[in-house]
Amino acid sequence: MNASLQKSAETRAEALPEKRSEVSCSRCDAVCCRLTVVLFPEDSSVPRHLVTRNPQGLEVMARNEDGWCLGIDPLRMCCSIYEQRPAICRKFAMGGPGCRDARKTYREQRENGIPLTLY
Ligand code: SF4
Ligand code: SF4
Repeated sequence: MNASLQKSAETRAEALPEKRSEVSCSRCDAVCCRLTVVLFPEDSSVPRHLVTRNPQGLEVMARNEDGWCLGIDPLRMCCSIYEQRPAICRKFAMGGPGCRDARKTYREQRENGIPLTLY
């Protein structure tokens, strides 16, 4: 990453309300599991009944009517296919900018009574 891109990512992360160290999956509604998860060729171990195609024709994780990935265990709000989860899920860092951004959007929408948007 060049210096200016790194600086811009750091600035974005600093603008988020939580610090990385304050975030834990054990105290989260698994909101990253409401984001679009695109599958790649290396994701062949993902159970096929959890996969669909989006309007753009890409293979993605299917979601339930509330927007969570069908791979979620709804009782424990954790991944039920952890060992087989897609590559994009493996790379998603707890407390990273994407995580904190998803949490911020989720919290704001809930606070304002705005219907949750699927991404
Ligand atoms: S990675 Fe972030 S958004 Fe996803 S469950 Fe963990 S804390 Fe929540
Ligand atoms: S596959 Fe697992 S980790 Fe990935 S979005 Fe679905 S429930 Fe979350």
